[in-house]
Amino acid sequence: MGLLGKIFGGGGKKTVVVAEVTSLECPHAVLVPRWENVQDMGIEAKATRWMCEACKTIFNPDEANRLRATLAERVILDVPPSGEGGAS
Ligand SMILES: [Zn+2]
Repeated sequence: MGLLGKIFGGGGKKTVVVAEVTSLECPHAVLVPRWENVQDMGIEAKATRWMCEACKTIFNPDEANRLRATLAERVILDVPPSGEGGAS
């Protein structure tokens, strides 16, 4: 607790962590499918657009596919190195 407090400025400012994450480029980790035709609902392949649950950005299926395909590497890259050089 003491160490984390020092890294994030102490004084119970836990929201700093959230602020840092949202100010970075959104990884669009959770994409919610949207359908225009009711009969297609539930069929992801027929989703007409995808919405990022975090930042509410709308993507077309092509973009969503690309985001989902590269999500793993992007999220891994987004993870800050633990330990050294935390708050520069
Ligand atoms: Zn997003």
